[in-house]
Amino acid sequence: MIEKDLAIALRLAPYSNTSRFVLWLSREHGKIATMIKGAQRPKSAFLGQFDLFYTCELLFYGRDRGGVFIARECSPMKMRTPLRARWRACQFASYFADLVARALPDGARALSVFDWLDAALDELAAEGASTATVFRRELGFLEHLGFRPILNRCAGCGGAAAETPNAAFSPSRGGRLCARCAPSARDARNAPADALDLLALWQTAPDDASARCTARQSRAMEVVLGDFLRHHLDLDLQSRRLAFRNARPLPRPAMPVAPVGTEIARTRGTRGDRD
Ligand SMILES: [Zn+2]
Repeated sequence: MIEKDLAIALRLAPYSNTSRFVLWLSREHGKIATMIKGAQRPKSAFLGQFDLFYTCELLFYGRDRGGVFIARECSPMKMRTPLRARWRACQFASYFADLVARALPDGARALSVFDWLDAALDELAAEGASTATVFRRELGFLEHLGFRPILNRCAGCGGAAAETPNAAFSPSRGGRLCARCAPSARDARNAPADALDLLALWQTAPDDASARCTARQSRAMEVVLGDFLRHHLDLDLQSRRLAFRNARPLPRPAMPVAPVGTEIARTRGTRGDRD
């Protein structure tokens, strides 16, 4: 029977000299793998019809090759062309695709995760790489999987966030800890209260793209959400580490030493946050 679904391409790989393997996140069928026969042939009907981060309308059938379906037709609905030029945004898109591919169990229905990824890729394509966007979307992904870090109060004693200016974060205890509770958690690490407050705000207003974070807050959020993902999803993603590392501003280069009277070309020492 031929099935029809919307699907986002998560991974591509060669299947033979002329065919390709594609791992998709589909809206109704969850994660599915398809073989696209003849996709590499010069006159293939599939040429230009699929690529990483495209949302496509996919027709597929069968499951006789170790759980791999056969793609019958594929038409791109969203190509997200700016991701081909914005390499930092593309790195975060790769991270999100990797996160879904690894965290979502095979066979799980994933309508809400599909809508989450579709919207997250739209935002990266339209707005570029903002770490605030990534943290906001990570909180949304955790919510869809049933993991909600406690951020607005102490996860140990329930004390209000306002009473915990010297905060800590413990993945095993579920989130934020006050100074009294932190010593009892073996994996607690210090975290700036204002960074946790901002994460708590995004948790309640996931579509609020107006709030920005400082470089210090961003680094703290990267660490605590990374710890949380590692502990609860058992994931330590290299794609996440690389994307954040490359999003950080380059250190300002030392002023070159030149003989007196020599004109020195000016060098830009910082990267923009969005590209
Ligand atoms: Zn406490």
